[in-house]
Amino acid sequence: MVLDSRSLVDHAGSVLEISNQQSVSQPSPVDSFTHRLDYDVAIAGGGIVGLTLACALKHSGLRVAVIEAKPIEAGFSWRRAYALTLMTGRILAGLGLWDKILPQIATFRQIRLADEDSPAVVTLQPQDLGTAELGYVGEHHVLLRSLYEALDNTPNLTWHCPATLVAVDYKSDHVTLHLEQESERRQFTTQLLVAADGARSPLRESAGIGTHGWQYWQSCVTAVIRPEKDHGNVAREHFWTSGPFATLPLPDNRCQIVLTAPHEEARALLETEESAFLVELERRYGGQLGRLELVGDRALFPVRLMQSDRYVQPRLALVGDAAHCCHPVGGQGLNLGIRDAAALAEVLTQAHATGKDLGTLPVLKRYERWRKLENLTILGFTDLLDRTFSNRWRPLVMARRLALRLMAGLWPLRFLALRLMTGLGGRSPQLAQHPGKPQLER
Ligand SMILES: Cc1cc2nc3c(=O)[nH]c(=O)nc-3n(C[C@H](O)[C@H](O)[C@H](O)COP(=O)(O)OP(=O)(O)OC[C@H]3O[C@@H](n4cnc5c(N)ncnc54)[C@H](O)[C@@H]3O)c2cc1C
Repeated sequence: MVLDSRSLVDHAGSVLEISNQQSVSQPSPVDSFTHRLDYDVAIAGGGIVGLTLACALKHSGLRVAVIEAKPIEAGFSWRRAYALTLMTGRILAGLGLWDKILPQIATFRQIRLADEDSPAVVTLQPQDLGTAELGYVGEHHVLLRSLYEALDNTPNLTWHCPATLVAVDYKSDHVTLHLEQESERRQFTTQLLVAADGARSPLRESAGIGTHGWQYWQSCVTAVIRPEKDHGNVAREHFWTSGPFATLPLPDNRCQIVLTAPHEEARALLETEESAFLVELERRYGGQLGRLELVGDRALFPVRLMQSDRYVQPRLALVGDAAHCCHPVGGQGLNLGIRDAAALAEVLTQAHATGKDLGTLPVLKRYERWRKLENLTILGFTDLLDRTFSNRWRPLVMARRLALRLMAGLWPLRFLALRLMTGLGGRSPQLAQHPGKPQLER
């Protein structure tokens, strides 16, 4: 009996048809039924979050499929870098990837926060947190390639790449996936479908899962620069009333910059001559980094905050940007997604070990209860930061400068802010407690 059916256009422009079909007969017992399905978990989206989940399920005994719309090489050529939290470092170490990743990324041991031309600069140091470092900056291709190589030749993993998911039938005891791969239509069944298909998630929309949030009045310009002076492995967040301006250190004395500004100003910064763009950056640095060189192209991103109303429903779970998006201030978005992946993998592995059906709500709700509130806290934190600092109202300007002075003088405030920013607050996945984790405690 078909209860509901919808269709939509996915990011690649193809039509994705969804039907929710409930069987009127009793489902077969889990064990006898699931072995007849092609997969236990199918992950739609082979970005960093989707592959982290696949990697975390590698030794679970589950049969996993990854469906990615673009050729994998397309992801290797994406020139973007992310601030990675200490928690992300621990999760990647738990996956056995850290020794390979660490030499290719930058480690920062100082964060400097500044408010426009105010002299009240706050410097956060590892001793404020009792750790050896405060975070890392890694490039997209480094993370993606490491995950991909770790998954190469995994016996229980099947790649469908490039492949487009064109239709999904949700049944009470499994999901049927219809893919287009190499001009052929193929059909597979799975216990659980995971949407790791990014912020515009066709799967979330077609499943009728609503979202709350808003578009900001700002956009982000990103670029990689090479300064004349040594960046000193310092991460900088300089708040301007137009929006925060982050500078993240990269290997080879390069820096990833993320400059947030009202849409028109951001577009003008994207389109202006390279020399004028660099002059504007040098003005913002006040000469601290010397002359700047642009390495590669600039890019423009819209900025939004979004939280899905549900992270799960029978046979479907959302992870990463498919579940939530936040303002890039503080560099949190990907880190939250990596943590979602570690949490979901833990829940699924435990459910599998006790013979439970992975697609049922009691199992999936454990993941939602774990991650939804924690993510909302960070979404709120990034929103508060952006609204408080992108503001010219005099009393608020005075209040935030006072807050920065207090933070500079009071260790407990620096400690609390760092717990939030480094991901060390909240419930830690077991993967992050792996003996191979970076030795953070002194
Ligand atoms: C300017 C800017 C700066 C940022 N800086 C940081 C930072 O410093 N630190 C940080 O943690 N986060 C940062 N973020 C956030 C971060 O970029 C995102 O949170 C992260 O990339 C989301 O990863 P994802 O794997 O969930 O989604 P995506 O990277 O969007 O991956 C989704 C994948 O799904 C595939 N796909 C889509 N539809 C389908 C389909 N139907 N079938 C199969 N495959 C499909 C896509 O091809 C893609 O490969 C920043 C964001 C912006 C905009």
